[in-house]
Amino acid sequence: MRVEQQHLFLYGPPASGKTTHAKRIAEQLGLPLVEVDAEIEAEAGRTIPEIFAAEGEAAFRAREARMIRALFDKPRCVVSLGGGALLDSELRREVEAMGHVVCLMAGAEYLEVRASGRPGYRPLLTTRSIHDLMAERAPHYATFERQVNVEHHSKKTNAAAVQAAFGVYRIYGMDNDYEVYVRNGILKNLSALLRPLKLGRRAALVCDTNTHRLYAAQVEEQLAAAGLTVKTIAIPAGEATKTIDTVQQIWNGFLAGGIERGDTVFALGGGVVGDLTGFAAATWLRGVDWVNIPTTMLAMVDSSLGGKTGADLPQAKNLIGAFHAPVLVVTDPEVLATLPPQEFACGMAETIKHAVIDDAELFELLCRKNTFTPAELQTLIARSLAVKVRVICEDPYEQGIRAALNLGHTIGHGVEQAANFSIPHGEAVAIGLVAAVRYAVQKGLAKQEFVDALTACLHLHNLPTGIPEQLDKAAILEAVRHDKKKADGAVRFALPVAPGEVKVGIPLTLELRDGALCIAE
Ligand code: NAD
Repeated sequence: MRVEQQHLFLYGPPASGKTTHAKRIAEQLGLPLVEVDAEIEAEAGRTIPEIFAAEGEAAFRAREARMIRALFDKPRCVVSLGGGALLDSELRREVEAMGHVVCLMAGAEYLEVRASGRPGYRPLLTTRSIHDLMAERAPHYATFERQVNVEHHSKKTNAAAVQAAFGVYRIYGMDNDYEVYVRNGILKNLSALLRPLKLGRRAALVCDTNTHRLYAAQVEEQLAAAGLTVKTIAIPAGEATKTIDTVQQIWNGFLAGGIERGDTVFALGGGVVGDLTGFAAATWLRGVDWVNIPTTMLAMVDSSLGGKTGADLPQAKNLIGAFHAPVLVVTDPEVLATLPPQEFACGMAETIKHAVIDDAELFELLCRKNTFTPAELQTLIARSLAVKVRVICEDPYEQGIRAALNLGHTIGHGVEQAANFSIPHGEAVAIGLVAAVRYAVQKGLAKQEFVDALTACLHLHNLPTGIPEQLDKAAILEAVRHDKKKADGAVRFALPVAPGEVKVGIPLTLELRDGALCIAE
């Protein structure tokens, strides 16, 4: 489902990589790409240097402004702008009203090297140096709210940072594609996001007692403003609630709210509310649309993505379930301000896990810092969830690489079970991450320094790194041996090899030696 209609504009100095990034974003979001300079050349039947030579800069700017304004009436697209396109303050105001602008930044020396790849192509650089141009324009570029410095990072990191600055992702692979928005304050504008969608007349809003108290009124107001009649259903908070009895309570709420095919269900909460609501939506009238509004760190970076829904049975967690992707995920990091610190730390365990799987620079950042400004937190969440988005787009139904997301979970689940779930999931995952990197060292796949770095990183984020003394290790081993990811008798592990790199499907047989869980010799 396409949600926002606004264009995504890439801006910044000449040779900063606007077109390369625009292409990548357009591809991820499945949107058309417009390269304004190329369009101007096509229309004029001349190259940009030829237009400058024949008509002068003022005539070029007039062509450029006309070309950009013509886009305002076109369907949503990703636009690579020329390096001076928004010097005109009136045009800039219009562009900022029509879409989201991300400005790439880099120093003159870096740009000079990149520009030398196409000598003569940038007419303004034939009459003066990029150093002079930047001395004049750097203050202009600095006024853009969303900036990405592309100078010191790898291509992959820059791509991740640019998409995080736009705060929108698209997930493919299941029955329906859907978009994920990650923006501070977006809940205050939820109605604007929903209005273009055809969401039926009625909505059910499922929350738990905490998210009901904190955020339900605000969301109800937004749903009403989007023209929906809302039935709110509040379930008790906590994992103990994740049962079929609660699903029944949610179904009863749907019945009372008159939810029909074509109506929409909203989940407002952490992973428990999301999993239950998604499952209730999957099974109500053989499936109704649902929108996920995750409110915990764990739900934002992990459980809201990928369409796994379900409930627990007394015998085991997540035994019942269905794949039922939401039509939209709306993530507002501002709601994390009310999240208890231990819950936040648990979400950080999954965030660190994602960094270890596929974002070495994010891992490096998390090793240095544990407090973040709201803008940094938004970027952090976007970067972390981007890893999961990449993995699930590649392998939506867990046939292969999606197993990477189980990193730390094999031992983690064993720890949770042996502790009778008194250890929170995120803390168990943190313990499992350290166990996995130790096994990787034993198998000769990773270096000891990685164990040290990961352990220090988890400590920095108030997460445990070792199995608590009092836990029965034999019970953990027993639980691991029954892990559902087992094949041919051996448990298959995802093992971290280096920051940003993981290997999956590694069969390991564990044993208890000197009171520790080790790879059998
Ligand atoms: P949770 O939903 O129980 O939320 C944790 C606590 O935080 C609850 O008490 C909740 O009321 C409270 N809370 C939520 N948002 C808040 C906010 N903004 N301010 C204050 N309090 C708030 O737990 P969770 O950690 O979000 O999710 C755990 C669940 O997610 C587990 O059941 C797990 O199986 C599931 N999960 C599912 C997937 C998936 O792919 N579907 C992936 C990972 C985990």
